[in-house]
Amino acid sequence: MIYIGCHLTVTNGYEAMGHQMVDFGGSTFAWFTRNPRGGKSKDIVPEDVQALQKVLEENKFGKLVAHGSYTMNLCSANPETRANGLDMLEKDLAKMEYLPGQYYNFHPGSHTGQGVETGIEQIAKGLNKALFPEMKTTVLLETMAGKGSEVGRNFEELRAIIDRVELNEKLGVCFDTCHTWDSGYDIVNDLDGVLDEFDRILGLERLRAVHFNDSKNPCGAAKDRHEKLGQGCIGMEAMKRFATHPVFERLPFILETPNDDEGYIQEIATVKSWFE
Ligand code: FE
Ligand code: FE
Ligand code: ZN
Repeated sequence: MIYIGCHLTVTNGYEAMGHQMVDFGGSTFAWFTRNPRGGKSKDIVPEDVQALQKVLEENKFGKLVAHGSYTMNLCSANPETRANGLDMLEKDLAKMEYLPGQYYNFHPGSHTGQGVETGIEQIAKGLNKALFPEMKTTVLLETMAGKGSEVGRNFEELRAIIDRVELNEKLGVCFDTCHTWDSGYDIVNDLDGVLDEFDRILGLERLRAVHFNDSKNPCGAAKDRHEKLGQGCIGMEAMKRFATHPVFERLPFILETPNDDEGYIQEIATVKSWFE
């Protein structure tokens, strides 16, 4: 059994997201800690977060997976963008402590021409500034498709970041099925081989969450265009084999497929049916 859900908007508050996911039939969810492209963030209302905690407990939800802003880039060639990214990360992590013990996922960054090595160094530097010993959140690096100058397009790059972070017991990995496939890992024909490689390079204990997406493009395309479950190049059979693999037992699976509410409700039901 896994936990399944999708991205929700935080516009109506935290408790509202919990109720909405109960209505959707899911057992986890993701939300953007701030406007994904703009960067603005809403203040936390402690009572609202406490009310959400109650919803999570009553409905036996799995871990939640907050998502950092797409504009947050810890390894931009522009120092102002880097400083801004660090500021966002620090504020987001401070806020996450109102919801202790959940996950915060982000795209490691794009090196914008500086080279992967510099990118890795700068991401690690940012994390070393932002992580703090008392924090109860686990920060997840997302596996990336490798479009443009994205860092994190293979397990080795994620390992290199983790190795440079002092408090790396606070770090885990979010496995995005579309991105990982797009970056060249064949989860359709060789899922066990990919998971062995993950284990060898990163260690399966780092695997904490999944972004569950089909892909519009073939393996290795380095494109990052998500597709509805079963309607892309990964296909329903491989998606099912993935979700039901014992290695993902009890992990939160977040749909980031191009859907409206009704589409998400259906995909959540489909995934749940695989475990009946
Ligand atoms: Fe993402
Ligand atoms: Fe993702
Ligand atoms: Zn993506």
